[in-house]
Amino acid sequence: MSENRDRAPSLTAEAAPESSLDRAAPAGALSREEAARRVARVLWVTLGLNASVALSKIAYGHASGVLSIRADGFHSLTDSVNNLVGLLGVHFAARPADAGHPYGHAKFEVLAAGCVGLSLLVMAYDVLTSAAARLTGTAAAQQLDPRAFVVLSVTLGVNVAVARYERRQSEVLGSTFLASDAAHTSSDVLVTLGVIATVALVQAGFPILDPVMALGIAGFIAWTGVQILRQNLRYLADAAVLEPHAVRDVVLRVAGVASVHKIRTRGSPGDIHVDLHVQVARHLDVVAAHRVTHWVIDALKSQLTGVTDVVVHTEPAAEGQKFNPMPPE
Ligand SMILES: [Zn+2]
Ligand SMILES: [Zn+2]
Repeated sequence: MSENRDRAPSLTAEAAPESSLDRAAPAGALSREEAARRVARVLWVTLGLNASVALSKIAYGHASGVLSIRADGFHSLTDSVNNLVGLLGVHFAARPADAGHPYGHAKFEVLAAGCVGLSLLVMAYDVLTSAAARLTGTAAAQQLDPRAFVVLSVTLGVNVAVARYERRQSEVLGSTFLASDAAHTSSDVLVTLGVIATVALVQAGFPILDPVMALGIAGFIAWTGVQILRQNLRYLADAAVLEPHAVRDVVLRVAGVASVHKIRTRGSPGDIHVDLHVQVARHLDVVAAHRVTHWVIDALKSQLTGVTDVVVHTEPAAEGQKFNPMPPE
């Protein structure tokens, strides 16, 4: 700063070199790049599991001639397709901000997550139409021999494990795709349970319960799909993602700060953008006020999970307004 003071003042503003504060690395726990790498790893593991489930169902269905298992296997194959869509979305989302996308590319992941919601609507439609086909007699009732039951139970276990794994990682990594895909995998669990229950009910002499079950399952899947679409559309439409008081509580503890207003947040859980007005002690000069501004930015990035970008409009506090004491120089 001292060399600036020695330089003769000019009448026109020049592009000033960034201060060291502006070049400081973000204080967040996990960088966007590292989080993206971990999300991709989760998706590769999930892809491997989903593909093995699908291939074993198709192979068994083919060998045994049980059509419903083979069909279920092809459905499981679409889970792997979803994983690939997720990998693509996360890959694009991880690219750093550039001149064309100065706010970064995080919304590519939100778009991919929206595709998961759409695929659930297709799945609900499929459950309904195949039940209707059985009802009208154009398709045979589902049958399960004991070995088929074993195949379904094993794949059910894999699905439960995948859903739990994705759910936990989505929270740790702030990934909307993993959260959406976890909800989708939970729906798969329900579908498989439905297949088992329906076969049991039909064999026990209650065939009328087949369409009733199908209606219930399709309704639940469609509802899950709509929830996923709604949530991700909210992210795309810049809905608020943090409670303003959560931001205010952090900022009001920063030295030099008197008050805060016009708090706005948007983005998705792993990529939250915050902008706000901060009123600082009015005796501070520009250099000190700039320092306070960066304390605010660092406090928000380090104390609120998922905050990646903070823009502060700094203004002087009112005359006589109380402010947090500044630390000794
Ligand atoms: Zn700065
Ligand atoms: Zn203001």
